[in-house]
Amino acid sequence: MKQITDKVYLLESTKATSSCYLIKAEEMVLIDTNFNFNKKIILKELEENQIPPQEIKHIILTHGDMDHMGNVGNFQALSGATVWAGSEEIPYIMGQKERPSFKKYLAKVMRPKKPEHIKPLQDGDKVCGIEVVTTPGHTPGHICLIYDNVLFAGDLVEERDGMPIPYPVKWNWDTSILFQSIEKLKFYPFKWVCMAHGNPVERDELFGE
Ligand SMILES: [Zn+2]
Repeated sequence: MKQITDKVYLLESTKATSSCYLIKAEEMVLIDTNFNFNKKIILKELEENQIPPQEIKHIILTHGDMDHMGNVGNFQALSGATVWAGSEEIPYIMGQKERPSFKKYLAKVMRPKKPEHIKPLQDGDKVCGIEVVTTPGHTPGHICLIYDNVLFAGDLVEERDGMPIPYPVKWNWDTSILFQSIEKLKFYPFKWVCMAHGNPVERDELFGE
């Protein structure tokens, strides 16, 4: 695990594919769960850091793509954690709505275990002091999270050569809405931007300031 701030850690076993973050808040919270085929290496990293899965009390998904929800059912079964996601994302995670084109194909091939229970999040909600900001665009129900000076950006942006760039059009539900979500974040306080794909960047770089 790599420490990002006082209470925020990156699970290094996930960095090459889709970064998961662990927050040591009042209770332990996992942000995103990577692909299901990486289950073992993630559990090994937790074990190496003396974190039994049962210590994870909450799992929050930024959205329902395969590289984010891949282990949500597996980790809920192991930990008993409460699972949360943006309310509009839940039908995709639970298989009640189909994703577009290639994402639909991936979901059929990968068949991730669904969570037993999932709780909906709305804009402004808090889980263990972690603030929810609805940021549609990449997917309809995508959310960002803010805690301990960190914006957890999911797939709002990705990092290239040290700079955050809006997530590529071909993977998005609606890129013009994604741009509006980036603008919305100007009104929120944070210092670091931690995304799923790439290294953390500073706030000012997100807004080109
Ligand atoms: Zn995604």
